Amino acid sequence: MGTISNGAKATLDLPAVPARRERLKDTPAPRAKRVVLAAPRGYCAGVDRAVIAVEKALRNFGEPVYVRKQIVHNIHVVSTLERQGAIFVDDVTEVPEGAHVVFSAHGVSPAVVQGAADRNLQAIDATCPLVTKVHREATRFSRDDYQILLIGHAGHEEVEGTMGHAPERTILVNGPEDVPFVEVDDVERLVWLSQTTLSVDETMETVRLLRERFPTLQDPPSDDICYATQNRQVAIKKVAEEAELVIVVGSANSSNTVRLVDVALENGAKAAYRVDYASEIKQEWLDGVSTIGVTSGASVPEVLVQEVLTDLADAGFADVSTVVTAEEDLMFSLPKELRTDAAGNPDERGLGGRVRKLDWQSGTP
Ligand code: SF4
Repeated sequence: MGTISNGAKATLDLPAVPARRERLKDTPAPRAKRVVLAAPRGYCAGVDRAVIAVEKALRNFGEPVYVRKQIVHNIHVVSTLERQGAIFVDDVTEVPEGAHVVFSAHGVSPAVVQGAADRNLQAIDATCPLVTKVHREATRFSRDDYQILLIGHAGHEEVEGTMGHAPERTILVNGPEDVPFVEVDDVERLVWLSQTTLSVDETMETVRLLRERFPTLQDPPSDDICYATQNRQVAIKKVAEEAELVIVVGSANSSNTVRLVDVALENGAKAAYRVDYASEIKQEWLDGVSTIGVTSGASVPEVLVQEVLTDLADAGFADVSTVVTAEEDLMFSLPKELRTDAAGNPDERGLGGRVRKLDWQSGTP
């Protein structure tokens, strides 16, 4: 991880963009070749808001703007913002006193907020409001003396942030395999919450097993797995029913992206691969395949999907149809520090954000 010394920029280590491979070849397939594109896919409202927050912080406050952790889990988005002047750091202690720092969409614990305040940082919180909702639930249940069984992945930034809101009262449950080992204080005051980007089916299985052990386990007040994660899983399930191969665009550390690969494999796809870029598609994946499903994680700009479609067209998969399983029109207002332009005038729609069409409706974000 980068550190700051002598004014040098600190950056999160990112995998290198893979070299472009030869163009894909058009090879014979048993039936007509086609692509089935999932919708919804790509950017969700929380990612859109977080990315605009960094862009706008750079515009309003000028460089440097620091960002704690990857603003969203996508290598292309992070490296693009880096080129625009954002400096990604792992910890607020790496940010010079008094500087602007943006907290990522995955959220932070109160300890991180305090750490930023201790350094007089000008913090801008780009935590997705749907993650903040889970934070509030954790705080409230903890205050009411509940124990929280948090279903989520150890080490994920969102999980660390949520656990930080109720550190004494939270037990992390990674999945069904953890259930036999969970020990609780009082079965009458027990609630489960979850990370927002999990597989719905696996989470429900974990809950079923937990409830077998603790029948009085309470449900969260509303779904913690967010609308975007759920919608993208429903869409890829439908696509996977007819696709022999599914290509999911997104980064390896993007939880919702990786879940889309799992969901595709569990719902009929014979093979499913995740790629950051079209250039990672391997010729042998396409051998003997007639129908390819394509989708993307919630932090993926549509331009990367379009590149995949271009490369697949080279390989004879030029016939593209879209399976639409939901419409999305949610848009979150920007963090309060960014609701005006640099001159202090309110921005369009009073939200402070750009008006963007949903990427899968407009073609490009
Ligand atoms: S995936 Fe869901 S929780 Fe995460 S940023 Fe998007 S809307 Fe928010």
